[in-house]
Amino acid sequence: MALIYCKECGHQISDQAFSCPNCGYSYRSEASSCGTNDEWLVTLLLCFFLGTLGIHSFYSGKTAIGVAQLLTFGGCGVWALVDFILIVCGKYRNGEGQYVRNR
Ligand SMILES: [Zn+2]
Repeated sequence: MALIYCKECGHQISDQAFSCPNCGYSYRSEASSCGTNDEWLVTLLLCFFLGTLGIHSFYSGKTAIGVAQLLTFGGCGVWALVDFILIVCGKYRNGEGQYVRNR
């Protein structure tokens, strides 16, 4: 843990903090945009290597679809392949309905 200075007011805060206690400036949005980039890459890799087991669906929070893919071996690979193409094209949605994209 280190101390950084708030971009907005210059108050000294922890680099683990999600918002500045002095002015309330939120760093959460920046953290989540980085997470989205990782989410895309992890989802892509999981689908490529473990797509027939539906692991990428579990990772994306789509548990019901993941179970269906697990039981059907990713629709004999076709379902997993379609998901893989969707992920590459940025058309894949996670369990919250948000597009999983490479930013
Ligand atoms: Zn501040």
